[in-house]
Amino acid sequence: MSRPFERILVANRGEIACRILQVAKDMNIATVAIYSDADCAALHPKMADLAVRIGGNTPAETYLDMDKIISIALQNGVQAIHPGYGFLSENAEFAKKCAEHNIVFVGPKAEMKRRKDSKNVVRFESSADVIEQMGCKSTAKEIMRKAGVPVVEGYEGADQSLKKLKAEAEKIGVPFMIKATHGGGGRGMRIVRDIKEFDALLKSAKSEAKSAFGNDDVLLEKYIEDPRHIEVQIMGLPNDQVLHLYERDCSVQRRHQKVVEEAPAPNLPSKIRQSILNAAVKAGKAVGYKNAGTVEFLLDKDGQFYFMEMNTRLQVEHPVTEHITDLELIKWQFLIAAGHKESQLNQDDVYCDGHSIEVRLYAEDPHNNFAPCIGEIEEVHWPENIRIDAAIEVGSKITPYYDAMLAKLIAWGEDRETAIQTLQRALDDLKIVGVQTNVSFLQEILAHPEFIKGEHTTHFIGHYEEKFLEKMKRLPSEALAMAVYHILEERRQAVASADETSPWNENDGWRMNANHTETMHFEFIGEDYPVQVHYEAGSIALELPEGTFDIDGDAGDDTVVESASLKNDTSSTYFVFVGGKSYTLKLKHTQIAVSDIEAQEQDFTATMPGVITKILTAEGKKVKKGDALIVMEAMKMEQTFTAGKSGIVEKVFFKEGEQVALGAKLLSMGE
Ligand code: ADP
Ligand code: ADP
Ligand code: MG
Repeated sequence: MSRPFERILVANRGEIACRILQVAKDMNIATVAIYSDADCAALHPKMADLAVRIGGNTPAETYLDMDKIISIALQNGVQAIHPGYGFLSENAEFAKKCAEHNIVFVGPKAEMKRRKDSKNVVRFESSADVIEQMGCKSTAKEIMRKAGVPVVEGYEGADQSLKKLKAEAEKIGVPFMIKATHGGGGRGMRIVRDIKEFDALLKSAKSEAKSAFGNDDVLLEKYIEDPRHIEVQIMGLPNDQVLHLYERDCSVQRRHQKVVEEAPAPNLPSKIRQSILNAAVKAGKAVGYKNAGTVEFLLDKDGQFYFMEMNTRLQVEHPVTEHITDLELIKWQFLIAAGHKESQLNQDDVYCDGHSIEVRLYAEDPHNNFAPCIGEIEEVHWPENIRIDAAIEVGSKITPYYDAMLAKLIAWGEDRETAIQTLQRALDDLKIVGVQTNVSFLQEILAHPEFIKGEHTTHFIGHYEEKFLEKMKRLPSEALAMAVYHILEERRQAVASADETSPWNENDGWRMNANHTETMHFEFIGEDYPVQVHYEAGSIALELPEGTFDIDGDAGDDTVVESASLKNDTSSTYFVFVGGKSYTLKLKHTQIAVSDIEAQEQDFTATMPGVITKILTAEGKKVKKGDALIVMEAMKMEQTFTAGKSGIVEKVFFKEGEQVALGAKLLSMGE
């Protein structure tokens, strides 16, 4: 096959940039990537033949800076720019700029009609028109209605006065939706269930739309109760044919954002399916669509379906379509964009084989309203036998500047059940150390009977979210035991490296205060979990919520798979993996109480090298059993030494702020 392009630029980041670069490489196309300052350690620049640092961090000064990107493209002689999804992928002005500079925008209607300008240079027709038309949900609905594609009833007129909108709202009747016409990613959308709330909801939808999309026009449409989100992948060919590549079900959504996607749609009667596929092709033809696009529909309980919007780009969830059709969409996009003869296919050549499901793995905290998490990836174990479109590797940083998606995991099976099981096994196997992820939430979704039966609608997550979060709060004792084991292991290593000849080193350094108890306070989802660690001659026993657990020195070997400590200097976070589940535990504080037997010695010695941060007593002072005496910081955590019994402080050997060596005498007590 001849190459459609010699060199292309990828104007995106993350997993989609990586995927495009890989496909281009496989097609023997030379690649140029761009990357921001924040993405210096990212994966995508490493995958390109040439990576250009674009400078800056915010999207506006990096992946959205059209002029910078075009000039990098021109300097490096690229013939085409692939925008991926998000960023500039649906930006008509950018498509126009590409055309002006004779660069192919790999998107809709790119380069289909060549014409020669006065200097006889081949110029390409811009993709801007269709992007602009479909980028506005109102215009798109109008076009589709005229073309005979069913659309959700509503108002999508130009008159945006409050009076008009209110009148139309009353005509539609509650419940209805207010939608930003230029919206995306689930933003700028409100459900109105009581007309009295209309003014306030309109105001907030508009202000969200204004700041997110720079345009606050809205449309109103009937709210469909409990629908399914069914979308169709279409592909417009250079010969004006529009093919469908079957449908995807993306009903598992949170706040109108897709979380799990699959193809084909489960339990879809074949008659309805065929009608939806036909409607999607009709929609594509109505706008003379070329290249990859997605037509989104809502399917109601009665089997009626309605056009919702058309996305003129590659979709995040395109891999599930690739799995069932065995077609590489990005490759096909390049071929179509170049008008390459190998881009021609017939509808009969497109088959649907088996079932595929994708989950979006995010760095986020489900228990903190799914807020994105930032951090550095310290360890990754990717499952095998599954497609992983990853945005990260060890050392990658998750910054606050961009979307926090870490990877997509995509399973294929001969049937839906097998695909679900494969994906479940993969999530059980996945280990990410360094940032918290939504993996447990994804596991809850995949395990739920309603999802397994394929009976879920777009209300699925809304319905069960609280239950899922509640279940995710269960912390098995093994998880705590493993965290403790790791802390002891860390100390052992610290001791070993501190002084190789130390007598403590021969034994287990942390046990030198024989017969004492340490209480490690862990935090897991806002709850405090104290674990009592009893150090006795030759053994360590843990008191855990579910009973006592003995660590006999090598308790952990293969069960304690991976964990790590990180974050700031005063807190340690442990990522523990037990029985296919991940737990993020924070060690808040530890307390060491010298036991009665041991306290006979009346001396406190440092169990680790560290710094004295607080002296809470003074020489000559009377203390009671349990009083806190000294706080030291070691191994990035705080340790408090408390009195094992009543007495008088005889001597304090250090001052606040002083460094102490392992085994150093800290304090002595008398009767
Ligand atoms: P939609 O939700 O509109 O149907 P997708 O699910 O394909 O479409 O999501 C794509 C949109 O989500 C993009 O337009 C973009 O705004 C946003 N998005 C999601 N993930 C990323 C990412 N990793 N980088 C940039 N944008 C992203
Ligand atoms: P975006 O551009 O953000 O992807 P969409 O118009 O595609 O916005 O809608 C996103 C999601 O919001 C849909 O998948 C669906 O779950 C919900 N939604 C949108 N319109 C309606 C409606 N009229 N009735 C019920 N749910 C809707
Ligand atoms: Mg959408």
